[in-house]
Amino acid sequence: MSTSAPPETTRFGYATHLSCRECGKTSDLGPHYACEDCFGPLEVAYDYPPLTRADIESGPQNIWRYASLLPVPADIAQRPSTRPGYTQLIRADELAQVLGMRRLWVKDDSGNPTHSFKDRVAAVALAAATEMGFTVLACPSTGNLANAVAAAAARVGIRSVVLVPANLEPQKIIATAVYGGTFVTVDGTYDDVNRLASQLASEHDDWAFVNVNVRPYYAEGSKTLAFEIAEQLGWRLPDQIVVPVASGAQLVKIDKGFSELVSLGLVEQSAWKIYGAQATGCSPVSAAYAAGHDVVRPVMPATIAKSLAIGNPADGPYVLDAVRRTAGAVADVSDDEIVDSIRLLAATEGIFGETSVGVTLGVLRKLLAAGQLDPAAETVIINSGDGLKTLDALAGAVRVPAAIKPTLEAFTEAGAGWDECVRAHTDAGAHR
Ligand SMILES: *Cc1c(COP(=O)(O)O)cnc(C)c1O
Ligand SMILES: [Zn+2]
Repeated sequence: MSTSAPPETTRFGYATHLSCRECGKTSDLGPHYACEDCFGPLEVAYDYPPLTRADIESGPQNIWRYASLLPVPADIAQRPSTRPGYTQLIRADELAQVLGMRRLWVKDDSGNPTHSFKDRVAAVALAAATEMGFTVLACPSTGNLANAVAAAAARVGIRSVVLVPANLEPQKIIATAVYGGTFVTVDGTYDDVNRLASQLASEHDDWAFVNVNVRPYYAEGSKTLAFEIAEQLGWRLPDQIVVPVASGAQLVKIDKGFSELVSLGLVEQSAWKIYGAQATGCSPVSAAYAAGHDVVRPVMPATIAKSLAIGNPADGPYVLDAVRRTAGAVADVSDDEIVDSIRLLAATEGIFGETSVGVTLGVLRKLLAAGQLDPAAETVIINSGDGLKTLDALAGAVRVPAAIKPTLEAFTEAGAGWDECVRAHTDAGAHR
């Protein structure tokens, strides 16, 4: 039962305070992200009201149907926002058959307003930042967050300040610049950009860096992936879920989201297993998992999966906790395997995901082959972004046919070429 004030009177819904993930010390809701005592990361704590499935089902078709479970004001659904979420959960029977699995689903977050899962976290961060009086929405980004923050700020008419590594995919650069706002490309890695953002955050106390000084609120947005998956499965949890890992926040919060649904009595208790997916060229969490370590040693990223290229992941240790506690695993795949899995998903299900889904599906296949994932158990994989954002990754892999004259003769002459295309398509399904 809730003892908190009705949400109409609170700025952060049913959120009550921030709590240190390391030592448990509490602090007031506000723009704090590190514990005063131990510098551990802070997390939002709540006093939830009784909540029924019907309450949620009667909400809007976006993440705000779960507003009671987020640190946002109760009338958030009526305010301007990009309104992300409620993306499709697609039953992937064709892909399941190729992989020898029984029941497989793809949670397709490319359907969000700026075509990645980052719209969820940007929207929650913006709502909380507005309540805290920030006037600028900012972020360091590996690309997708840049798109989401620039768009979210434009929608509500506030200034954005977005910093990215200069070597990002051109699609992600243009899809940030188009929204206006202050856009800075930095000669360096994401970890360099992140360090610069931390310095800027301490200089400008009216700038909300969504994933730095308002990170506790931002991270909560990823819980909505868990809520939607459970609701779309008919208020059940999947047995297994494979999640791409950059900072690790998404994975940790999906696990937290499942736990909250159980404690609220919205789903039955069950033993889900959570698996993390990284690219071999940036696999600090996978390496720590394999070595049995609790700490994550930073790496220099070198992979086509730029959206996941965080060499020093803030939530790395918590990812290790979650996968070990649920008897899951973390694994990584090469750039070639990433491209192959992007093609396999496209050819079997008609879903063109970005490099992150190549990582996620690649890791699913690897874990299946190693017997670490049960092919008979109901499984969900996340497609966290749109393939149109990472076209360069496919440039050498798909065959673009030469143009023909618009005549029947030319079509017939080119016949050998068509056969090759068909074979390439079936090949993608042949090797698992
Ligand atoms: C940011 C991102 C992720 C992972 O996010 P974290 O919460 O930082 O682990 C996954 N996929 C895509 C496409 C992303 O942009
Ligand atoms: Zn602490």
